[in-house]
Amino acid sequence: MWDIVKLRDRMFPSNSRYLLRRFFYFLFPARCPECGLLSDSLSVSPFCTRCWDKLKGISPKKRCRGCGKLLQGINEGKCISCLKTQQFFDVVFVYGEYEGVLKKVIHTVKFEGLCRLAERLGRLLVYPEIPPVDCIVPVPLSRERLLKRGFNQSLWIGKGLSEKAGIPINECLLVKRRDTLPQSLLSGKERLRNPKGAFDVLKDKGIPESVLLIDDVITTGATLNECARVLKSAGVRSVYAFAIARTN
Ligand SMILES: [Zn+2]
Ligand SMILES: [Zn+2]
Repeated sequence: MWDIVKLRDRMFPSNSRYLLRRFFYFLFPARCPECGLLSDSLSVSPFCTRCWDKLKGISPKKRCRGCGKLLQGINEGKCISCLKTQQFFDVVFVYGEYEGVLKKVIHTVKFEGLCRLAERLGRLLVYPEIPPVDCIVPVPLSRERLLKRGFNQSLWIGKGLSEKAGIPINECLLVKRRDTLPQSLLSGKERLRNPKGAFDVLKDKGIPESVLLIDDVITTGATLNECARVLKSAGVRSVYAFAIARTN
């Protein structure tokens, strides 16, 4: 049964061919990866609406403006390690911790290739503290990674947010020239070095004044920081970053 569900989602990764997808959904309902019950919703399938709605209950917390780590007590601003490192983005916003249903949704999006779910996730992310920006810029994948995975989850999350918040998305401004190792496989110092020199800005369509970078998961903030560095050196004045989840 699970293989048929996977096949169904591979065939209908986005909301295109809606009626056909609806028909397949009717024949082969998915089991929610969080609670194990049959999904009761076509739009957030394979999740059920009860588990999906838990995402809406995630409230903003006091976080480091440099890496998104939770700050304890009365501490405002940045954590000690961010105060010691040079940061190129203005503020990073984080929606929630990389745990529970949020982790399962991000994992499902990435490894089952569900861009429609990524877009849906992006629509949840209207966040009151985010300042007005000229455009949303998804953190790009390298050509090799994009060919392998078939889609960039950050782009689809950005599309959802763009639609909901009414901010245009600019997917051509930032490119990734070479592949980097996943940050989760590296030690502290390696994580800082890993994304160096991997990104480039394409200036042919002009440089916006302010951008909101979008990524799915933030580990140390090194990738977002490198993106912000190249954007600022290309002339972008304000770079804000928004990650869906932060690892502990
Ligand atoms: Zn569920
Ligand atoms: Zn920090």
